[in-house]
Amino acid sequence: MSAGSTQKPKALIVDPGGTSRTMLRRMVEDAGLEARMATSGEEALELARGEAIDIGLVGYRLPDMTGLQLAQALRPHVAKGVPLLLVTSDGNDALVQEAFRAGITDVFQRARLGDLLAYLQDFLGRMYCHDLAGERILLVEDSRTFVHMVTDMLQRCGIEVDSVGSVAEARRLFAERAYHMVITDLVLEGGESGLSLVRYLRQHGQSYMKLPILVMTSFDDPTRKTELFRAGVNDYVPKPLVEAEFLARVHNLLTARKLFERVEEQERRMRELATTDQLTGLGNRHLFFELATRYLARAEREGRVLCMLVADIDHFKQVNDQHGHALGDRVLRAVGDVLRASSRKGDLVARFGGEEFVLLMPNCGAEDALAKAEKIRRDCEQLDASGVRLTISIGVACFDPGDPESLDSLFGRADKALYDAKRLGRNRVIMRARRIEESVNEQA
Ligand code: GH3
Ligand code: MG
Ligand code: MG
Ligand code: MG
Repeated sequence: MSAGSTQKPKALIVDPGGTSRTMLRRMVEDAGLEARMATSGEEALELARGEAIDIGLVGYRLPDMTGLQLAQALRPHVAKGVPLLLVTSDGNDALVQEAFRAGITDVFQRARLGDLLAYLQDFLGRMYCHDLAGERILLVEDSRTFVHMVTDMLQRCGIEVDSVGSVAEARRLFAERAYHMVITDLVLEGGESGLSLVRYLRQHGQSYMKLPILVMTSFDDPTRKTELFRAGVNDYVPKPLVEAEFLARVHNLLTARKLFERVEEQERRMRELATTDQLTGLGNRHLFFELATRYLARAEREGRVLCMLVADIDHFKQVNDQHGHALGDRVLRAVGDVLRASSRKGDLVARFGGEEFVLLMPNCGAEDALAKAEKIRRDCEQLDASGVRLTISIGVACFDPGDPESLDSLFGRADKALYDAKRLGRNRVIMRARRIEESVNEQA
């Protein structure tokens, strides 16, 4: 049974005898499975090749082979873990042994079909409960009998259940705890219907948007259903509940939610990997360009200043050459930490390239930017990187919202300022103004 389907699990029944076949079929369907019938081994194999079955019930005497031979032939055509049960009237110890060797999961006597029914129910329970332990569900239902019944079904799957009888209580609980799913009745205590709870959850922002909602209803008319789905319900089950169907739907919704979360988490991790510099944990060049464009657009739109620092470690090649690459890496991390510590919330810090960093500071004017750059320069000078003396040069350029420019232009200016700083002897901060192409030299 695939995760997203609401289909019942399929039981393959292989039995040539008319009466016993009908009995098995009825039992299987009562238990909540869908029956696929075959009267011979070949017919059964044909069926199993065509569709996935979840469990097999096989008689011993078949027209073309024994049930044991069929079990062996079936194994390659069914998924791993699919139970194949032998249903026989002449069970003896030798047969049971032989059956197990042939790949039969268990043997049941025709005279004791109650055992088989119990097995099927347990099998279904395991099937629907798979992986659900630890999930937390809020049950909104005003009938005590129903609360007991549903809570019992869910708890047998290891699901944690809180139950309330009204929408007001549900809201209160939502404020206190996180749930993986909501199951709600439509007619409730307190004058608010289950639908108003659905609307509340769907209109209450991101946190509840993806919460699966299952409605239990005895109003089974099409208009009502449309209304439910329109309001944002994921699925509904008619009352009175059929346990297998109910659990199957709960299972589907919870599994779908988990899959969705896993995908989201993977995407988040991929994105983080793609935008993070692994050595320093800062943003990388890619993130810088993606965000810097937006920072500039916002500064222009809101008429705010913004400054950019480009910092480059002086004679870093010598650090590597004299002390080794590993120490070089440690120095890079230390400089990254200085930049991170110097930035405030909303600033963008990135390792732009090998030993080059950028700091983008929204709402920061030239004077503050120079002071910040000077502090960073001094902090780096004072870094104790295993006895290695370390200095950095910084170029500064600021964005004027009254005379906007492109990111390339702004970055180009900061980069030129950095080049000036290197040319003028390193370990210093230089700012380049826009029009007056003159350098303001902050002597170190
Ligand atoms: P300048 O003062 O002119 O900036 O001189 P520099 O030696 O710092 O500049 P240069 O561009 O000549 O050398 C940069 C060095 O940075 C060369 C390269 O080996 C080193 N580098 C780049 N990425 C890494 C890295 O991830 N780890 C280490 N340890 N070194 C790196
Ligand atoms: Mg009710
Ligand atoms: Mg350098
Ligand atoms: Mg460099």
